[in-house]
Amino acid sequence: MFSRRVFTSVALAAAVSIAAPAWAADRFVSIGTGGITGVYYPTGGAICRLMNKTRRETGIRCSVESTGGSIYNINTLRAGELEFGVAQSDWQFHAYHGSSRFEEAGAFEGLRAVFSIHPEPVSMVARADSGITNLTEVQGMRVNIGNPGSGTRGTWEVIEETMGWTRDGLRLATDMKSAETGQALCDDKIDAYFFLVGHPSGLIQETLATCDSSLVNAWGPEIEALVAERPYYRRADIPAGTYPGQDETVTTFGVGATLVSSVDVPEDVVYTLVKSVFENFDDFRKLHPAFANLKESEMIADSLSAPLHAGAERYYRERGWM
Ligand code: GLU
Repeated sequence: MFSRRVFTSVALAAAVSIAAPAWAADRFVSIGTGGITGVYYPTGGAICRLMNKTRRETGIRCSVESTGGSIYNINTLRAGELEFGVAQSDWQFHAYHGSSRFEEAGAFEGLRAVFSIHPEPVSMVARADSGITNLTEVQGMRVNIGNPGSGTRGTWEVIEETMGWTRDGLRLATDMKSAETGQALCDDKIDAYFFLVGHPSGLIQETLATCDSSLVNAWGPEIEALVAERPYYRRADIPAGTYPGQDETVTTFGVGATLVSSVDVPEDVVYTLVKSVFENFDDFRKLHPAFANLKESEMIADSLSAPLHAGAERYYRERGWM
């Protein structure tokens, strides 16, 4: 689960080899993502793929880890055990400010933003025989509310509070990892699963193709008020036709996926990562259908609450974007 540290092999290489220059020794960086059928995992894969193209020149090797999601990634970054993590913009906000789920740990002042990525609407897939048409109707149902450590779970708890629900209001609340939920839904073990994810995602595509189920709305007066009051939420749609057989546009709200790092990660490492992505931007956008509408200007400014990492800022200035 844990990455090897940046710089660890430099001194060792210098000690054992006279011929190989120390600066050519590999440095390893890891990106914490999410479940393998979500969008974070392929996002990390896309970034590493571009970054590793130049690993001979830069000496930096990037690898991806499947993890529990946003909150896990931020906590692990804070512990110095990851160099990068993908995280929902709401949890980036709370981690930097020490609010909500991060109140106890306190503000993570060393958290740094790198860029924002795809939008992540609040998404719920329900079995047709459950009769659920809106997230607001799930009381008394069997629902997967997200694994501990996921941003999904954190945001579920915010919705629960907003709606005035208690956990007992659900007939069953499960906390399976996202990758397990499609099978559970189609096996009739749950009526619906809740997931904050980019679209299209492998999991939802597979679920909709496997059993009689659909994406449902997540909207109502309480949610509208919540969105109006919090800067990191935004009304969002999942347009009709995003998935085969999805005839109606889904009305919901959401956050943005963002890439975060820590002030302790060297400037040149972050510089290399952003340069790899933005110098190959057309290729990057083709690496996942959820990236189709990404724009450089939005990625470097929207949904970011922590300060930009110095290495990212250097590159954005060089490009004249700041
Ligand atoms: N937003 C999700 C979370 O942090 C992960 C989404 C994904 O895996 O693509 O829980």
